Amino acid sequence: MSYNLNENLKRSVRNFPESIAYIYGDKSVTYQELNQKVDRLAAGLYVQGIRKGDGVALILGNSPEFLIAYYGILRLGAFVVPINPLYTQGEINYLLDNSQAKAVITHVSVEPKLSEVKKQLENLKLVVYTEAEDQESTWEHLMETGTSINVYGSPYIDEEDLAVILYTSGTTGKPKGAMLTHQNLVSNADSISKLLELDVKDRVVAVLPMFHVFCMTICLNAPIACGATVLIQPKFSPHDVVSTIREKKATVFAGVPTMYSFIYQLPEAIAEDCQSIRMCISGGASIPAELLHKFENKFNVSILEGYGLSETAPLVAINPLKGTRKPGSIGLNIPAVQSKVVDEFGKELPRGEVGELVVQGPNVMKGYLGMPEATSAAFNDGWFYTGDLATIDEEGYIYIVDRKKDIIIVGGYNVYPREVEEVLYQHPAVVEAAVIGVPDGEYGESVKAFVVVKDEQITMNDIIQFCHDKLVKYKLPKRVEFFKELPKNSTGKILRRELRELTEVK
Ligand code: AMP
Repeated sequence: MSYNLNENLKRSVRNFPESIAYIYGDKSVTYQELNQKVDRLAAGLYVQGIRKGDGVALILGNSPEFLIAYYGILRLGAFVVPINPLYTQGEINYLLDNSQAKAVITHVSVEPKLSEVKKQLENLKLVVYTEAEDQESTWEHLMETGTSINVYGSPYIDEEDLAVILYTSGTTGKPKGAMLTHQNLVSNADSISKLLELDVKDRVVAVLPMFHVFCMTICLNAPIACGATVLIQPKFSPHDVVSTIREKKATVFAGVPTMYSFIYQLPEAIAEDCQSIRMCISGGASIPAELLHKFENKFNVSILEGYGLSETAPLVAINPLKGTRKPGSIGLNIPAVQSKVVDEFGKELPRGEVGELVVQGPNVMKGYLGMPEATSAAFNDGWFYTGDLATIDEEGYIYIVDRKKDIIIVGGYNVYPREVEEVLYQHPAVVEAAVIGVPDGEYGESVKAFVVVKDEQITMNDIIQFCHDKLVKYKLPKRVEFFKELPKNSTGKILRRELRELTEVK
């Protein structure tokens, strides 16, 4: 069997030419039509000088162009560099320079940020704009060039070839480019398809950002490999997601916990809206048990929580579709992936003890582009170090305790922000919650909570009082700050780092 993303698409084109590959607004496109568009894009890029081994950056939001360009670039044997279109000019400049991308495909609205960048980057030869009128190089032009000339042949693509460079958020220093091969991405998409029993009848909502690995593998690569339909959503709005699920009869929804929270709060949404859903998937951050139960009960659906990272393409573990799901756990290792919990010397810890989660498998990246030191710091003895603390129970279910660097030490005792956040979410008025450690003259550090509440009458004392009989004293938040919204990244993850910065500024 060959591990090749392009072959996965071609297999679906052969097996299901008339099935719908994607729906965007009112427009449905079959696998055969998608394949033609991908061919044209690949030919157009070839005519413009892009070859196997070149990098092409996609600075696009969720759109058909993202999907077409993604597979078109891969078909040429080139690699994709997905970039968030909301990034600043400086961030875009850094990523294009670091990846040495030869071309960029982006939306015309990004043009002001790119015009300067283009002058500074010698390697950047081509910029293509979607929805552009007066630009020298437009998407339409590229696609037209591709119709007449089918010149690119069929470059041989090895499973070890680079397919995507994913820049990880990078909590310290510059973002790092995780190099993912065809094998990394295909093995993960195949495992997901099997575990979720995806097939041609499935309709998967793609509302997570396509430039993030969670969407890329679960909502694009896996359904495309099975001939299923991708329901492309340009951006997240709880109302639109629920309407799409109802009207387009979606069978799979994948989201981050904050999306589940917003959908849950939508007053008009009812269980009947979600009748077609076979399963929901949550990942990217831990889903508070309270939210999981409330959502499942309101909509009569099951949420399977999974866990992964950009570096592991992404899925490492997930709760089973059939069999025991354990709320609070990220489930079991997916096939061919091993993980274990180790101490600071890399020694495996007995079941039930907390240590760092390390991973091995066909999904683990080659390394960080041009960063040998960061790469060797991330690997030891062939195991990838996730930076997450976890514990594994007797049945092999894994529980993420927290990020290693987020631990709060109060008077010598460890406090994991997540256990305090879980309690805060049990408060009926709390919509969002995050906890960090702040300097404390007496105990070294103390717990500070940031919350978004539905009811403006709620005070700091109410919240602390609520936690009183649920947490031992040293874990209690000493201070609570109220926000209208907590800072989040593009995938909806709450950014504790920004909360820390806000606290320092004060
Ligand atoms: P990214 O590389 O942006 O996908 O971020 C990966 C990180 O997200 C992991 O190292 C975890 O800290 C976090 N993460 C992903 N899924 C979960 C989950 N189900 N529970 C807790 N943390 C998660």
